[in-house]
Amino acid sequence: YRASPSERNRLRLYNESEAMWDRTDRTVFLAKTYSEQKLRFFRLVFVVFGVNLAALFLVVWVVRYRVAGKLERDAHFDTLTGAYNKNTFNDLMSREMERSRRSGAPLSIIALDLDHFKRVNDTYGHKTGDRVLQNVSRIVKKQIRLYDLFCRTGGEEFIILMGNTDLTQATLSAERIRRAVEGSDFVPRTSLSLGVAEYEPAESSEEFFARADRALYEAKAAGRNLVRVG
Ligand code: GH3
Ligand code: MG
Ligand code: MG
Repeated sequence: YRASPSERNRLRLYNESEAMWDRTDRTVFLAKTYSEQKLRFFRLVFVVFGVNLAALFLVVWVVRYRVAGKLERDAHFDTLTGAYNKNTFNDLMSREMERSRRSGAPLSIIALDLDHFKRVNDTYGHKTGDRVLQNVSRIVKKQIRLYDLFCRTGGEEFIILMGNTDLTQATLSAERIRRAVEGSDFVPRTSLSLGVAEYEPAESSEEFFARADRALYEAKAAGRNLVRVG
């Protein structure tokens, strides 16, 4: 335009410059959009990663908690009936005897055994036998106090440790348990034989346990579905 100033060239210069502005403007706009998109993408990646990490921590924490809880339960409880297992019974027995020796408070045990349980298995199968064991355990737990300790010491043999309980009270409980099992309408019907003994401070745990076991044997010999005192 400076070399040949004319109205046509001025217009051309004006149009060219407008077009250039327009292109620059669009380029800046595109660059801005592009960088915003990139930023959004990184933000999304960051959020997704964070959420996944948090979910992973949560899963690890829950699994650890549950596994630890299960190991703890399996170490102390019988999985079929929820009663304390044999090992825990031995620990509890020593602890309760020590407590009774120190405090002078009475301590009693009830040994119980399902009557003719082999027949249940032979007639209805092992699975039904397991359900009978579970049902009897449920009934027994309902009949005892919260702080009585219900333990499975063998296949269909259980012991209840009763702190602060003398022979008379324990015998009444045993009779209540016997009647509750006898009266249950769970099929197949079952009954229990029970032997009761109160701890005498000089005796060992074996002697104490053997007295209850002898009483249980007497209940079996006398016809089953009975309570006997050792
Ligand atoms: P008794 O009245 O003299 O006690 O007779 P019983 O048949 O109950 O006694 P016995 O000791 O002859 O049989 C016990 C049966 O208990 C044998 C065994 O198969 C069964 N048993 C032991 N543990 C379990 C278990 O966990 N599940 C099931 N279903 N049966 C079991
Ligand atoms: Mg039996
Ligand atoms: Mg038995």
